[in-house]
Amino acid sequence: KNDVLNSVTPRGSISDHHKVVLVTGAAGFVGTHVSLALKRRGDSVVGLDNFNRYYDPKLKRSRQDLLLNEGVYVVEGDINDMELLNRLFDTVRFTHVMHLAAQAGVRYAMKNPSSYIHSNIAGFVSLLEVCKSLNPKPAIVWASSSSVYGLNTKLPFSEEDRTDQPASVYAATKKADEEIAHSYNHIYGLSLTGLRFFTVYGPWGRPDMAYFEFTKNILKGKKITVFQGPGGVSVGRDFTYIDDVVKGCVAALDTAGKSIGREGKRKGLKAPLRVFNIGNTSPESVEKLVGILERLLKKKAMRDVQEMPKNGDVMFTHANISLAARELGYMPTTDLETGLKKFVEWYVDWIQKD
Ligand code: NAD
Repeated sequence: KNDVLNSVTPRGSISDHHKVVLVTGAAGFVGTHVSLALKRRGDSVVGLDNFNRYYDPKLKRSRQDLLLNEGVYVVEGDINDMELLNRLFDTVRFTHVMHLAAQAGVRYAMKNPSSYIHSNIAGFVSLLEVCKSLNPKPAIVWASSSSVYGLNTKLPFSEEDRTDQPASVYAATKKADEEIAHSYNHIYGLSLTGLRFFTVYGPWGRPDMAYFEFTKNILKGKKITVFQGPGGVSVGRDFTYIDDVVKGCVAALDTAGKSIGREGKRKGLKAPLRVFNIGNTSPESVEKLVGILERLLKKKAMRDVQEMPKNGDVMFTHANISLAARELGYMPTTDLETGLKKFVEWYVDWIQKD
């Protein structure tokens, strides 16, 4: 492993022109896309992932193959393994960290809450502990989540809105990370940027997410469970296409660590500490999502409509992205129909090869 790392980016031989990025959770959905985008534009990228079995490990291994084919090596290990992290940072002078490793999914948190504490809170602290004493310190961009808005019903969600009502343990861990980021920024001067992603979808996506599960079941002629709010109110999400999210991540990396910004100066920060919504500003109902999938798959869905249980899901999400637009130049361009078409094309091809 060390040979591979040395050949990628020996410590001390980095030019100022390209970034050397550690992507945690690189074999995950977002991690794969971000790693490829950075590598393709000429950055040096090393991945880290523990390949946990939360969903089909074969999918993670296929993403790993895709990455390896393009020269991105994914180290297999846990973000809590401080010895491994220290070895990685000793070997390679990372200028940036894109921290995407996490236990995702709101519902699974009811079954296995401790896995969220382990990966999302302890894992984040492990990373920050290693980074705090490096010289120079890498700029860190990490995945927060729209779930931090919790039971807040004031739409659209803006970064300054209340985040003190998490509806799941998952959301609580993402909220905790934002507080932890604040303390590491304050004490150690770490540059930290949190990105609140809104329901990301697309090729190589996560099988536990509704659009993926619906596609699979519609094709197999199996029932899909569609949740509704009280009185038949449709659940809505600000579905955000993966390529748009990747652009947000890259823009966040490119501006990370550069300037404290007006707001930072006002707060008296010594290093940048930022949080942005990365959404689509165009929420759609789950009913509409199913309708588009039926058209694309040329098959009727068998709906099992149920009242939404108290399982950590919220009724509606909608991002206000004006801060990200202003500071990062972030502007999503993919509508749900176009994005789902690309997902379905990928899915059909992938299950045929499987
Ligand atoms: P994912 O599960 O596909 O990717 C996460 C990856 O992290 C997985 O490959 C997993 O094996 C790895 N991982 C988990 N725990 C680890 C640990 N302790 N050590 C090392 N690796 C570990 O999820 P994703 O959809 O790609 O999400 C990426 C990030 O974005 C996560 O932080 C997630 O919480 C956040 N997020 C995602 C969405 C979305 O809609 N996909 C929305 C909001 C936030």
